[in-house]
Amino acid sequence: MPLYEFCCRKCGYIFEEITPIDSSPPFCPECSGETYRLISAVSFKIDNKEAVRRIEKRFESYIKDGKYRDAARFLDKASEFVKDDKIKRLREKVEKKLSKHGKRA
Ligand SMILES: [Zn+2]
Repeated sequence: MPLYEFCCRKCGYIFEEITPIDSSPPFCPECSGETYRLISAVSFKIDNKEAVRRIEKRFESYIKDGKYRDAARFLDKASEFVKDDKIKRLREKVEKKLSKHGKRA
């Protein structure tokens, strides 16, 4: 599982993202600015359990901020790379939150 660290060009926010090697850098989760990859050459591989743990952590920080839609988007992306029932359950959880909060989320 390739895990990369990205840094925002605009606000300097550093975050991790599980992403394919050839994909373009994701946008900053804080300000939607452009980002660049911090670890250039070699991606370090993490096992599935660790990947799920990191995804969960990130998910929780979205939820804490009330960013349910971002959390859902993040989980959709993460589930492309990490196949785990836990992620599916988190996705269902956020779906419930989204329908409850409606357009506000
Ligand atoms: Zn930013």
